[in-house]
Amino acid sequence: MDDKFDCIIVGGGIAGLSAAMELAKNDMKFLLIERGEFAGAKNVSGGVLWGTDLARLVPEYWTEDPDEAGWERFVNHRRLTFMDDQSAFSFDFKSDHFDAQPYKGLVVLRSKFDRWLADKVQEAIDQSEVAMESFLATNILVDKVLKDENGKVNGIKAGEEEFFADSVIIAEGVNNLLTRQVGLQDEYVPADHVMTGVKEVIRMDRETIDERFQLDGLSGMSNEFLGYATDGVEGGGFLYTNRASLSVGLVLGLKDLREKVKKPYDILNKFKEHPAIADMIRGGEVVEYSAHVVSSGDMRVMPEEIYADGVMIAGEAANLLMNAGKAIQGMDYAMRSGILAAETVMEAKEAGDFSKQQMKTYRDKLEESYVLKDMRGFQGAVQTLHQPEMVDEIPDLVCDFGRKFFTVDDSPTPKARKMFSEAVSKNSSWWNLMRLSLKAAKNL
Ligand SMILES: Cc1cc2nc3c(=O)[nH]c(=O)nc-3n(C[C@H](O)[C@H](O)[C@H](O)COP(=O)(O)OP(=O)(O)OC[C@H]3O[C@@H](n4cnc5c(N)ncnc54)[C@H](O)[C@@H]3O)c2cc1C
Repeated sequence: MDDKFDCIIVGGGIAGLSAAMELAKNDMKFLLIERGEFAGAKNVSGGVLWGTDLARLVPEYWTEDPDEAGWERFVNHRRLTFMDDQSAFSFDFKSDHFDAQPYKGLVVLRSKFDRWLADKVQEAIDQSEVAMESFLATNILVDKVLKDENGKVNGIKAGEEEFFADSVIIAEGVNNLLTRQVGLQDEYVPADHVMTGVKEVIRMDRETIDERFQLDGLSGMSNEFLGYATDGVEGGGFLYTNRASLSVGLVLGLKDLREKVKKPYDILNKFKEHPAIADMIRGGEVVEYSAHVVSSGDMRVMPEEIYADGVMIAGEAANLLMNAGKAIQGMDYAMRSGILAAETVMEAKEAGDFSKQQMKTYRDKLEESYVLKDMRGFQGAVQTLHQPEMVDEIPDLVCDFGRKFFTVDDSPTPKARKMFSEAVSKNSSWWNLMRLSLKAAKNL
């Protein structure tokens, strides 16, 4: 047995496990190292896994016994809510077309999902031709990425142990210390374009969730929030229905939090007290609280390059994430980039070449995929969403208009355009509105 692997994957999150699955299915010898006690132990997510790549990794996963499956519900009901301190104005979309396999949005709880996916990877290893030569190792922290005398990455160091491979996929998530160590990103990354996510899992019995959110079977709802949710801090809120719990949380700009001297947990508590949220979580019991840094989707924080001799960076370690107001897309980007990195390893093995020139194929594949196409195409929208006006001015305007429009009383009713004009004058200005509308029209 050759003691060198085709590939070592650092990180058993979505990017790492997706790469591993692809390698296992193609009889490649690999070692995946995860620092958590099990895959998913260290992972936090809101979270909806968008896209259909899971069906490629685990074909027909939806036919599994729902009680054994790693996912919670598929999304058939989407809602985007603007909030002020007393109102909530939503764009609401529910459709049966979502109820088609492969599902395009799955609500997941990461500790459960990642563990399930790791089991599927282990099954694929067991069925591969190199079943005794590929491994998933947990509870091990990779300290260092090793390079040979020519500067090509050729392995990793964990404690006193060294392991060698033709290639390394770094899928370590947003705290990308090893990415910095190999020189693909500056040692210091300013917090300006980084967010922090805080999330609670609120237990609630399944019948209550089904009735309260008008769900049926495994259907689920995703709700994003702008405005009062973040108490004046850049960011947004979310609420997702799991089978027997709700995931409720916020994603907040680190720089803005620091400058406004606010604490994420206080903002989360305030968010939960808003009448619209309080009605949704009533009777539930908080069973988990977690916090995690998350990319803003701003390409200015991406590593300068995502490959070098013998190495590729996948998932959020490469800051592959987008949040242009419609959804947070980090998990699907992690999945696709993991798959593409694994494909690159296989092609490199075929060519007998793991040099930088060969690894560039990974970048090309990502550029051709929806991941970098969308990140580039919607950078303007990401930046518009982070404009100060989106924090309260616009949500206040929308809610103020909604309050006037939906109120019926015994005084003469003005025309809607007059109501809108009043809401603009009170909360913003025509100039600001025009500026933002033009940006939105251009970027969305
Ligand atoms: C509050 C919140 C809500 C979110 N909501 C959504 C959502 O709804 N939809 C969505 O698509 N995305 C969402 N995201 C983003 C999403 O969670 C990430 O983009 C995604 O998890 C990135 O996957 P990854 O595999 O790249 O990294 P991770 O999932 O972070 O996995 C990295 C893994 O590497 C391991 N690791 C790190 N360093 C080492 C080391 N040195 N040695 C060994 N192991 C190591 C870690 O333990 C971890 O398991 C959310 C994030 C947050 C914080």
